[in-house]
Amino acid sequence: MTTLFVISGPSGAGKSVLIDRLVNDVGPLRFSVSCTTRAPRAGERDGVDYHFLSRDAFEAGVAAGRFFEHAAFSGNLYGTNWSELEAAGTAGQDLLLDIEVQGARQLQEKSIDAVYIFVTPPSFAELERRLRSRNTEDEAAVQKRLRQAAADAPEMNRYQYIVVNDQLEEAYTQLRSIFVAERTRRHRMGKVLEPILESFRK
Ligand code: ADP
Ligand code: 5GP
Repeated sequence: MTTLFVISGPSGAGKSVLIDRLVNDVGPLRFSVSCTTRAPRAGERDGVDYHFLSRDAFEAGVAAGRFFEHAAFSGNLYGTNWSELEAAGTAGQDLLLDIEVQGARQLQEKSIDAVYIFVTPPSFAELERRLRSRNTEDEAAVQKRLRQAAADAPEMNRYQYIVVNDQLEEAYTQLRSIFVAERTRRHRMGKVLEPILESFRK
């Protein structure tokens, strides 16, 4: 059994920056590449950042039961393909999902065993500043995302861990610590413990 990590937080909180660093730092961890109907941003690569789909193709995927979870966010559809979980399972890798709160809620309501982490900025004003400074959305889309952030904020109460991303270094240290600690929980250590225990059986 590999471990599922779910990270949510408002658009502009710093999830992508933190996750990019994490996947290159904490050992075998697969980033789940979601499907979306959103247009690619400059520099985003199909199949790496997202699988970019037409709305028709996405809806066909929903009808065919291809999504583990999916949700509408800020006018676009986003979803996690079952194939991401299968690939992580086959490779024996932990899987990291960067999904918004409705998708996470679907998993929580199905009692999916995962580590649920919410990344929040230190304030709404700082979120607005980051979202604008990222310069990836037009004004209408920024406004929409800010409204969504305000509506979603109370959902952070559904998460096991909260990382306040004020100073990036500190937030990263906290996030990394969560991964390291969760991976050493006894019920996730079975394969590691077997040979150790065996070595004591004389
Ligand atoms: P998300 O993936 O949550 O939408 P991003 O990772 O794209 O957010 O970050 C949004 C913007 O904020 C980016 O320009 C990023 O460089 C910046 N940022 C992230 N963390 C911090 C931080 N701790 N302090 C200042 N700026 C940050
Ligand atoms: P963005 O358009 O900024 O890349 O992502 C917008 C939001 O969609 C973010 O909150 C991100 O976590 C969420 N998201 C990305 N992929 C998925 C997914 O597969 N499912 C769900 N439910 N949300 C996703």
